[in-house]
Amino acid sequence: MTTTVGLDRDTLEMMLSSLDEFVAETLPDQRRLDLDHEDVCPEDTVREMCSEELGVQLVFVPEEYGGLGGGAFDSYRVCERLARADIGVATSVFATFLGSDPILVGATDEQRKEWLGRIAEQGIIFAYGATEPEAGSDLGAMTTTAHPVETDGEVTAYRINGRKQWISNGSIADVYSILALAPNGPSWFVVEKGTPGFSAAPPEDKHGIRLSNTAALFLDDVVVPAENLVGREEGRGLVQAQQVFGYTRVMVGAFGLGGGWEALDRAIAYSENRIQGGAPLSTKQGYTHKLIVPHAVRLEAARAFLEETATRIDAGEGGGGALNTEGAIAKLFATESGNAAAEAAIQAHGGYGYTRPYLVEKIKRDVRITTIYEGTSEILEMTIARDRWQQHLKTSGAYYRDAARGLAGVPDECAGPTAALAVECLAAVLEACRTGRLTRNQHVLLRLGELVTWAECAGALARRAAAAAAGTLPDKADKRFRPTALAAVSRVFAREAAHKVAEEGLRWVAGASSGADLAAALPLDRVRAAQSGLLADMNQVADALYRREATSS
Ligand SMILES: Cc1cc2nc3c(=O)[nH]c(=O)nc-3n(C[C@H](O)[C@H](O)[C@H](O)COP(=O)(O)OP(=O)(O)OC[C@H]3O[C@@H](n4cnc5c(N)ncnc54)[C@H](O)[C@@H]3O)c2cc1C
Repeated sequence: MTTTVGLDRDTLEMMLSSLDEFVAETLPDQRRLDLDHEDVCPEDTVREMCSEELGVQLVFVPEEYGGLGGGAFDSYRVCERLARADIGVATSVFATFLGSDPILVGATDEQRKEWLGRIAEQGIIFAYGATEPEAGSDLGAMTTTAHPVETDGEVTAYRINGRKQWISNGSIADVYSILALAPNGPSWFVVEKGTPGFSAAPPEDKHGIRLSNTAALFLDDVVVPAENLVGREEGRGLVQAQQVFGYTRVMVGAFGLGGGWEALDRAIAYSENRIQGGAPLSTKQGYTHKLIVPHAVRLEAARAFLEETATRIDAGEGGGGALNTEGAIAKLFATESGNAAAEAAIQAHGGYGYTRPYLVEKIKRDVRITTIYEGTSEILEMTIARDRWQQHLKTSGAYYRDAARGLAGVPDECAGPTAALAVECLAAVLEACRTGRLTRNQHVLLRLGELVTWAECAGALARRAAAAAAGTLPDKADKRFRPTALAAVSRVFAREAAHKVAEEGLRWVAGASSGADLAAALPLDRVRAAQSGLLADMNQVADALYRREATSS
């Protein structure tokens, strides 16, 4: 299948390989370890990435403003590749994209030409200033204000006062998007570095992404011209921020995916050479099936959902925040899976993993941020659960019953029926929560968000495996696994998803009520029967990861 939106495949591949070459030359392992140790953001490297030669930022800028006009699919591939190199540097590059987002979705054409044009032509660095010391997940609690300054009865400027917290590129950006409360509500303002009254605190001393600059911002009577109010209309700030969540969360999801795979690939390579018990660790099933295979499988489930969502955004579905729930699912699953994979990669390296030179310890610290910024995992669970709960109620349960039927057409070998089983179990859990009025417990609601995520990712992976088998994957899709191996990946994941949705659904429903009705409604026998063949499929996935014949013990 050929994707028409964004870059053509050759241009994308060229961009990815130029990025690889640049990273190999500019950010070798030792330099990254040194920068991490010294807690230094390589600003020169970030600027070089956005220079005329490499021009990574051009992927995010529409063609009419001098960019390459990449789509969501292109951005996901670039973000994953950037994250494989270094999530701190990736964050710095991404902050320009995030900072210019309010402009992309809400600015006047004149403002877009000015600011997006400067990003494309001059490679200026942006920062995105939303979070405040007392307003993180709940931006409604923000207190930074923007008071209109009038000249002859006309608003000619705004005076901004307040403080921003944890801002990526905080002390290195050239231009900042600042969210502030204007008389008619939260609004975005563009503030240039060096504006009187505007300053940044020293960089934060962070757990990870130490190659990324993060700093608090102080705004003391900062006066900006009225032309710097994004869209020239007050009160649109939160809408403008939410409009791009589907898209931006796919990108941060790609960071989780990139970080997780980078750690896992290092563990795979290590285990091929590390001899214990007379043979390489890669031949030990108790090692691979605990520390490698389940993580590879979950990362590929995350990829399937990311690619499906990016494809839908590129097909025009994402406008006005329409795919915010999908963006939340993609980010939640990819970042939690990336974090878990990096943790397992430390264990897979034994004592060496606990020391710095093997880099997995750094990757683990870096990837940790992805479950916090751009919406914490708990906030995403809430977003997902609320939306799908409404769908369940509105359709009297048909939402997931139909989704399960939709998977019936996906072949057995790609796990269509098992993914359908996970979705069917989800419908039963949601219904038990409705009859028992259990979502009054916030914890139950958020657990539903997690179960929704697993079931929907199982569906996406089964569809992706079927597309791979039929040769209809998007031409820009990642092709790491051959179709037969991807089918095995899908079968392993669908079994886990069905088991998790049924057993954990039962647990929380029982925990909040008697749970008796749900046990009768759930097809538990089928869920257990579906586990048959699991070990053989895990063997097959291990063989694919280690490039062996499918005859492992
Ligand atoms: C390195 C780094 C870079 C960042 N870069 C930027 C940036 O460039 N621009 C920017 O604007 N921000 C940035 N942030 C801020 C980031 O987006 C916030 O930290 C994040 O949104 C969480 O907000 P908070 O830290 O205030 O945590 P809180 O919102 O206080 O949350 C604390 C905990 O409570 C949970 N929680 C919150 N609300 C609820 C609820 N209603 N119910 C249940 N649980 C809840 C959260 O999930 C979390 O576990 C960055 C942060 C870091 C650490």
